[in-house]
Amino acid sequence: MLGAFTPFGADHPLDLPVAAMAARVRDKDDALTAVELVQTALLRIELLDPGLNAFLCVTGELGLAQAAAVDAKVQAGEDPGPLAGVPLAVKDNLAVPGAPMTCASKILEGYSPPTWATSVERAIGAGACVVGKTNLDEFAMGSSTENSAFGPSRNPYDPARVPGGSSGGSAAAVAAGMAPLALGSDTGGSIRQPAALCGIVGLKPTYGRVSRSGLVAFASSLDQVGPMARSAADARALLQAIAGTDPLDATTRPMPALEPDESTRLDGLRYGTVTEFGLDGVPGGEQAQAAVNGVRATLDAAGASSVAISLPLVTSSIPVYYIVAPAEASSNLARYDGVRYGRRAEDVDSLQALYARTRDEGFGDEVKRRILIGTFALSSGYADAYYKKAMAARTRLREQFDAAFEQCDVLLSATTPTAAFGVGEKADDPLAMYLCDILTVAANLAGIPAISIPCGMTTDGLPLGLQLWGRPGSEGQLLDVAERIAEASGHGYVAPSVKGAE
Ligand code: GLN
Repeated sequence: MLGAFTPFGADHPLDLPVAAMAARVRDKDDALTAVELVQTALLRIELLDPGLNAFLCVTGELGLAQAAAVDAKVQAGEDPGPLAGVPLAVKDNLAVPGAPMTCASKILEGYSPPTWATSVERAIGAGACVVGKTNLDEFAMGSSTENSAFGPSRNPYDPARVPGGSSGGSAAAVAAGMAPLALGSDTGGSIRQPAALCGIVGLKPTYGRVSRSGLVAFASSLDQVGPMARSAADARALLQAIAGTDPLDATTRPMPALEPDESTRLDGLRYGTVTEFGLDGVPGGEQAQAAVNGVRATLDAAGASSVAISLPLVTSSIPVYYIVAPAEASSNLARYDGVRYGRRAEDVDSLQALYARTRDEGFGDEVKRRILIGTFALSSGYADAYYKKAMAARTRLREQFDAAFEQCDVLLSATTPTAAFGVGEKADDPLAMYLCDILTVAANLAGIPAISIPCGMTTDGLPLGLQLWGRPGSEGQLLDVAERIAEASGHGYVAPSVKGAE
């Protein structure tokens, strides 16, 4: 059934800022309903997703039922919440009962979770309506979505290129206008890197800001759920809905409020320029560096000042991350044994064979590689040399960040060394793929928040991202600064032409 709207067009309600969209739904006298918004988002998915593969599953019935509940509240004079009627895409490693949850892995074939992920439940509590589960690299391991067992997602700015990963489906969905908001997860960059490559905003919260309950664990000490959106204001609205302590995740902690602070100014802002994050000499890094320099010039003109910072240990962050994350993954993924979840190998004659065959058939190559690396790094005789050493480096890295934030308010860098690369370009080169995370993993190792915002395009018309890093609990300030930078620089979300494919 078609809604009252055509799927695309000037001043389309689905393209409004989230606060304005929800305000129209909440306004009883406005003809816009949540059901119409969700129907239109579903129509866009139907038209655009065959070319993008951003969704693994469309949850039309669920989203429409949630929308009907929102509309009923409006009619009854109740407040349906700040995200009233806003379509939400959910990464397929977050639990939504009644829908399949695959983590883009064959091993979870046929699995549907019994309970809600807290973050999703809270977004729905604020009025959001889930339109589908998005594609990812298998178990969130990767930087391109090419490790998905269900085919790669495509970048809306150039479908021959990747959208980044692992939350690539969520990023493509938002960038293409199929959903104004999406949830992603970020263990080493998986919200920020795809946000950068798809020209949108993505925020990795402070560790402990958002509940991980119902998020399929990859590396539990690094994983965070966070918002992906077209603007910092929209990302803030979703973060406000999902943040907060949760009895189901003992690592959540009370943190400073997220309300906008209108008094935040670029004038007087001290931003750190980290020597080790410079891209001079990095192959292909010229355009990203030029875009960051452009923003720095805007900041300086607005009265901000650059502080030179050195964080020597960030040069070790890729090796440290690729010990810690696989170590935790090898333990977390032990639960997929063919007994409790999803797929089970057939025609086996022993329990050992059941485990081995299920895992061999169910996991893809990258997941197996991580399990092998992690098991090795934790094994007796090697744990001291690898895992414990990596953990010690991690503590020192956090201390270096703490010292940096005594000298400046935020750190500023590119999000990725280059814009989106071609599908297949790095697929057979794990090390090249791991290096995509060179500018993002340190925030996870240190547990600090970081946001990627659009900062222009390459000469080929591909988006580039700027990253702001903050002290623990400073997401509110990062969002304020992000909003001021967008105003001052004029950079922001620019709809890709795929959207005009009526
Ligand atoms: N690309 C990184 C990895 O492959 C980060 C993934 C993530 O943040 N989930 O591990």
